[in-house]
Amino acid sequence: RSFEDYNLSDEITRALALLKFERPTEVQSEVIPSALENQDLIVKSQTGSGKTASFGIPLCEMIDWEKENPQALILTPTRELAVQVQEDVTAIGRFKRIKALAVYGKESFNKQEEELEQKTHIVVGTPGRVMDHIERGTFCVDEIKYLIIDEADEMLTMGFVAQVEAIIEKLPLTRVTMVFSATLPKKVENLCHTYMKKPISIQI
Ligand code: AMP
Repeated sequence: RSFEDYNLSDEITRALALLKFERPTEVQSEVIPSALENQDLIVKSQTGSGKTASFGIPLCEMIDWEKENPQALILTPTRELAVQVQEDVTAIGRFKRIKALAVYGKESFNKQEEELEQKTHIVVGTPGRVMDHIERGTFCVDEIKYLIIDEADEMLTMGFVAQVEAIIEKLPLTRVTMVFSATLPKKVENLCHTYMKKPISIQI
């Protein structure tokens, strides 16, 4: 397997070289081709498998730089993970000048609001603060084409089910949804069943 198999743009290929990603990990070889075809995916994989880049690479590839409003939303259970994912995605999208913003609680709402007023391609955040921004009209979700739920099992264990559902309800129906989870408990399966379109399951 090789990153060349995916016909990635020169900008993304250069970023992967700079990151010293020589070949796709197992999860990446499963996820990248399907994600590039706009397929809904349920991915059972652990941290350390390269799962962040497995969605980060196709997202950065597919983002339209010209658009002002966010095109992708990545939900994470913790702010530490939000920041980590934001950094990883920014590194993958660096030569395409992809702007990814992390939004989470306990940080100034106004500062995040100012950032959201600038062109932002990808929003990464924890459910509570993401919902705040949507409800106050500071985060326009009209052009969201990709929803990623990272560490879905953790998210639901932490009691974010209602918030995650409320966020999903606000998003355009014409979107691609990818769920990543280390385990697939009933709660996660129910969420997937309700909100995804003919998802393919990938188990690593
Ligand atoms: P993750 O599972 O997303 O937390 O990634 C685990 C680590 O693997 C991170 O430090 C990534 O930078 C690194 N990584 C991801 N994909 C690759 C790859 N294709 N080649 C080498 N390292 C990678």
